[in-house]
Amino acid sequence: MSGFLHRYLAHRTQSAHPTDIESKDRRCLNASFGDNDIWDDEFTSSEIEARIRKTKAALKEFGYDPFDVTTEEFYDYMTGPIFSDDPTTLRDVLGNEYIMIHELVEICELKKIGRKIDKNVIMETPKIPYYTAHLNAMETELKYALYKGDTLWAKIRLRQHKESVLDDDPNLPEELRPMAQELYEKYRKLAKQASEQPMTS
Ligand SMILES: [Zn+2]
Repeated sequence: MSGFLHRYLAHRTQSAHPTDIESKDRRCLNASFGDNDIWDDEFTSSEIEARIRKTKAALKEFGYDPFDVTTEEFYDYMTGPIFSDDPTTLRDVLGNEYIMIHELVEICELKKIGRKIDKNVIMETPKIPYYTAHLNAMETELKYALYKGDTLWAKIRLRQHKESVLDDDPNLPEELRPMAQELYEKYRKLAKQASEQPMTS
């Protein structure tokens, strides 16, 4: 995948594109080489802090009460090693309100079950709680997109959920397949209904 439109489709659980690592800021490279200097080069912590603040306000307005997530926790979560390849960069995430919602909710869901948020949390959290957090994050993201009237985003993410999680994810625990399938069917229906509504004003 390349370019923003493609990148936002990719999730850390996606297993495709194992060789697509030419860019130095790819998270898979962070995973291979440990900490690098993208923090200093491309982001200031106040930029990340501002995005977190904005996303938390959006979540609160929407009825989800987020935990406090520090800039460091967010950065570590986004740049730590992951168990499959994902070309999404921190820049991609910071620039997209829906993905920000997704990642913040995912972090909050992991905090809720007592996980410490650091660079190793994804590798060290067992698959069932990790995927449960991911599916809850996906549901909140889809709900939020529909609340904002962004049916296109919801449809794109649902298609990606089907292709990269339901159809092709060797890490998805079988116990969670029904939950993942239900999420797909429920929100596909809701997105379809929402997109068929007549435009108002
Ligand atoms: Zn996720």
